[in-house]
Amino acid sequence: MLIVQKYGGTSVGSIDRIKNVAQRVVRTAKNGNQVVVVVSAMSGETDKLIGLAHQIAANPQEREMDLLLSSGERVTTALTAMAIEDLGVKAKGFTGWQAGIVSDAVHTKAKIEKIASERVKAALHEGYVVVVAGFQGITSEGDITTLGRGGSDLSAVAVAAALGADACEIYTDVDGVYTTDPNIVPEARKLEKISYEEMLELASLGAKVLQTRSVEFGMKYDVPIIVRSSFNDNPGTLVTKEDADMEQVVVSGVAYDKNQAKVTIKGVPDKPGIAAQIFKTIADANIIVDMIVQNTSTDGKSTDLSFTVAKTDAKKTLALTEGILKGLGAEGVDMRDDVAKISVVGVGMRTHSGVAATMFETLAQHGVNIMMISTSEIKVSCLIELKYMELAVRALHEVFGLAGGAEE
Ligand code: ADP
Ligand code: ASP
Ligand code: MG
Repeated sequence: MLIVQKYGGTSVGSIDRIKNVAQRVVRTAKNGNQVVVVVSAMSGETDKLIGLAHQIAANPQEREMDLLLSSGERVTTALTAMAIEDLGVKAKGFTGWQAGIVSDAVHTKAKIEKIASERVKAALHEGYVVVVAGFQGITSEGDITTLGRGGSDLSAVAVAAALGADACEIYTDVDGVYTTDPNIVPEARKLEKISYEEMLELASLGAKVLQTRSVEFGMKYDVPIIVRSSFNDNPGTLVTKEDADMEQVVVSGVAYDKNQAKVTIKGVPDKPGIAAQIFKTIADANIIVDMIVQNTSTDGKSTDLSFTVAKTDAKKTLALTEGILKGLGAEGVDMRDDVAKISVVGVGMRTHSGVAATMFETLAQHGVNIMMISTSEIKVSCLIELKYMELAVRALHEVFGLAGGAEE
């Protein structure tokens, strides 16, 4: 079998842990498998590098940011290859570009366009374990890019798809995908399997156990993804196609996202074309807008328009909106980032009603005010004050009956 194994930051966070990874890899290789290992930077390293850049400039050039951030994964790639060799198995490390990972040029959140996997295939053929640096790619112009936070998951799934791997194993610091973050709710239950669609919602709603785009990619190319712990041999969670059992469960998980900021443009003229102008300006800067609420005007002339963006894009969004305020004829703009989005997800919502009502009622019972709401076929999200986030996640986890022993 050809197996892709991705080890996250905590799993390669120290020399001992890198040695532990090497042992697991060697065990898999000695069982007769071809192995491609994708590694993240040591935990905390990417944040440390971002911190260094911000000591120099408030808004560092994104091209240079990528050059800087990609260095973290390069370190662990080389060290992991060395640790595997040290155990007597041939290993070769590759940076993203050496592994042929070609991306677009949207620095800091580039999308993989294609993978020219000849070198990786040749090395596997020659009997090497291949170690690939996660989180990075190269543009067709030859510039180094990174794939967005948590992007090593995407590297792994994309490499698995390109190589037609039999499995893509994501090794992390928890045993699998849980009904909610087990670090916040200890009663959270591990799921034996979850559909791509639910995982995609959970990930995009903040459950960082898998990066959103990695799930999207896995779903598109039918890559079976297994999330497991690098610290034990417990069975993990399989991310796969939806089946009939999954629909029986109305709510399968609760997610939270602290990386949110709410922008409100006040006194916006209530006439056609205004929203288009605002959101085009923001989209042109490659900023993703999430929730949007526009009130109807009471005087027939003006209204308030609120929307959310990632906290990391908040300053840029504020500057852009301030820049177009006059042209819009709006009164002003406000931003607050002490907010969080909490969401409940489940494919069973397609056939069961009442989830939103239960969610709102539960929040109300705990005195939590809802600032914004958004829904899709299989999720309901509410924007609330950040200070109530953990309380709300626990209450929702409980009311939807998600707690219980591990599902095996
Ligand atoms: P890695 O460094 O291995 O990529 P991450 O920190 O990116 O690991 O992701 C693992 C973390 O995801 C866990 O430690 C946990 O706190 C968090 N998490 C959030 N939601 C969930 C969930 N539903 N199931 C499991 N883990 C979750
Ligand atoms: N090191 C990168 C990050 O911290 C990528 C990853 O770990 O997946 O976001
Ligand atoms: Mg991660």
